[in-house]
Amino acid sequence: MKRIAASAAVAVALMASSDINAHTPMDEAPDLSQFTKWVTDNEHHESFYLGQELDILDMHLHPGSYDKLGPKGKEFVKCVFPIDLPDAIKIPLLRLFSSFQLNPYGAFIGIKNECRRAAANNCILFATYAPETWGIEPNEDLLGYLDDQRNSFEDKPYFYGLASLSVENWDTEKAASLENLKNALSHPYVVGIKLAFAHTLTPFDDPKYFDVYEVAKEYDKPVYHHVGTSPLRKVSEFDEDELDFVMRTFDPVYLENAIKQYPDVKFVLGHAGNDANHEGYTKIEEVFHLAEKYDNAYIEISALGSQRHDPNGELMDSVLSRAKSAGIVHKIIYGSDGPGSPGNTKSYKDLVIESMQRVDYTFEEAQLVMAGNARDIFKIPRN
Ligand SMILES: [Zn+2]
Repeated sequence: MKRIAASAAVAVALMASSDINAHTPMDEAPDLSQFTKWVTDNEHHESFYLGQELDILDMHLHPGSYDKLGPKGKEFVKCVFPIDLPDAIKIPLLRLFSSFQLNPYGAFIGIKNECRRAAANNCILFATYAPETWGIEPNEDLLGYLDDQRNSFEDKPYFYGLASLSVENWDTEKAASLENLKNALSHPYVVGIKLAFAHTLTPFDDPKYFDVYEVAKEYDKPVYHHVGTSPLRKVSEFDEDELDFVMRTFDPVYLENAIKQYPDVKFVLGHAGNDANHEGYTKIEEVFHLAEKYDNAYIEISALGSQRHDPNGELMDSVLSRAKSAGIVHKIIYGSDGPGSPGNTKSYKDLVIESMQRVDYTFEEAQLVMAGNARDIFKIPRN
């Protein structure tokens, strides 16, 4: 069994970041000795803050597979593959590796194993409908993961989910899309809605999509929006005359009307409006403006603080200290945007905890960010 473990880990090391969330391509091979086949319930993984044990809930994990990626996603993961091989070899390898890595129950480096190693007591899996970029991870597959008998930790559910919906051909397929969404929201472990308008090039301010918020209101579920640019769609790739339109798909300023119009719907502003490609389009200021002004606007802090994106932790420090001084720590929600490369789910969590220490969070504040706020708004009980 040890040999299998080692070969899977080597495979993963080769593949670098074929994960759906390849924001952080692997810089070095992981320590192979850490990848046992299964992390068991009684295996102890803990996180401490100022000497006290922290409850961790990671609200942002992407299941999937190489074949479910959209064309831009496939191109991206082939590009970051660290070894120059012909596609005929690369693609089968990516298929094989993703079947471990992006599978919630994959052996060795599957999502649940990685989350448990990160000491997370619960995690939230995302459905995704972004056909051009990260591809489609349908609600049906999400429900399958949630209903799987392996979805347990200490006899309680481990994974919860955010359902999503297709906004393609909205004018003709809206009714079917909304019906599919409602069906998913009826599942007891589906706790919210995930939208990725920067990926689907859907304007935040077009009221024809506000029906989604009507459903959120009816089912009393928060809406998570990807806010800020997409790592797979650089703003610089668009023509000058398309810029105004593109801004409406990622700039949170254009979400304000929806947030105002639906005070009963909680809006989680993903990635804190991060400038994913370092192009000078950071929207962190705008995200804070909304979270400070509206009771129903929250900020999620995945991806922006990764080793590659924020090597000194300055960006994460600035976001967390700003939240503390603005008195909105109760609106900051932890997520990793994992699984990323093996070990990244844990290392991202460690980076966020280190940042909280640098900016003098109390234990109570750290606990709100790492789990308490998410448990509260998504109504997920502590295991
Ligand atoms: Zn993500």
